[in-house]
Amino acid sequence: MTSPLGTAVWATSVSGPLALGATLAGVQLPVLLLGSALLVHVSLVAAAVACPSLEAFGPAIKRAPRGVALTFDDGPDPVHTPRVLDALAARGAKATFFVVGERLAAHPGLARRIAAEGHALGAHGWTHDPLYALRSRAQLSASMDLEDAAHVAILGRPPRLFRPPIGVASPPVVEVARARGRALVAWTSRPRDGRADATASTVARRVSSTLRDGAIVLLHDAAMGRRAHPAGVDALPTILEELARRGLEPRALEG
Ligand SMILES: [Zn+2]
Repeated sequence: MTSPLGTAVWATSVSGPLALGATLAGVQLPVLLLGSALLVHVSLVAAAVACPSLEAFGPAIKRAPRGVALTFDDGPDPVHTPRVLDALAARGAKATFFVVGERLAAHPGLARRIAAEGHALGAHGWTHDPLYALRSRAQLSASMDLEDAAHVAILGRPPRLFRPPIGVASPPVVEVARARGRALVAWTSRPRDGRADATASTVARRVSSTLRDGAIVLLHDAAMGRRAHPAGVDALPTILEELARRGLEPRALEG
């Protein structure tokens, strides 16, 4: 536990055992008080898992060291990723791609193009497992073994940057990743470009209001679920134009 939230999670975690101990000892404790403490605990855990930037379970990169970090999750995708790369190249911009391991293995040429054009690649789970944060340490480790092997085979080295699927990070996720030397990457801006109602203009507007030195923007270069087309790909030229207008440099994270 490294943050005030982490301390609060730990402190409120005593409510359950306290209630059990008091019951066994025949001590009457105010049910409402214990119930409230338990509710607070559950809420804090949910916040801590959903927001790695709160650093409840370990450190995270929550600010770009220089310029603005545009990050693209869920690829590489043979349709959308080349469009993203073309748009970035047109502006001389660099970005960071958090790739799904099995998609990396399926599209090695695309992954090599990302690296060759000066962008960073990080890991985003072997599959895009929606229950990733609930997996055991052994399951997480097996998933990361597959990712490491694919990154080494295709790109020559294991990933140093990591963002878990869905962005949720439980204590085992943080611990297993850290043991392999992976840095957990959070975000400052999440315009929800994969949602069915997202459009290029709504995404560009949401991102624009959050652009400042050190921002980390979470976009997608592949679709998940029923949406066929992440709106962030269409919004990218406008976002790059806005960055240039404000003198903010889009840079790859160093991993
Ligand atoms: Zn994702």
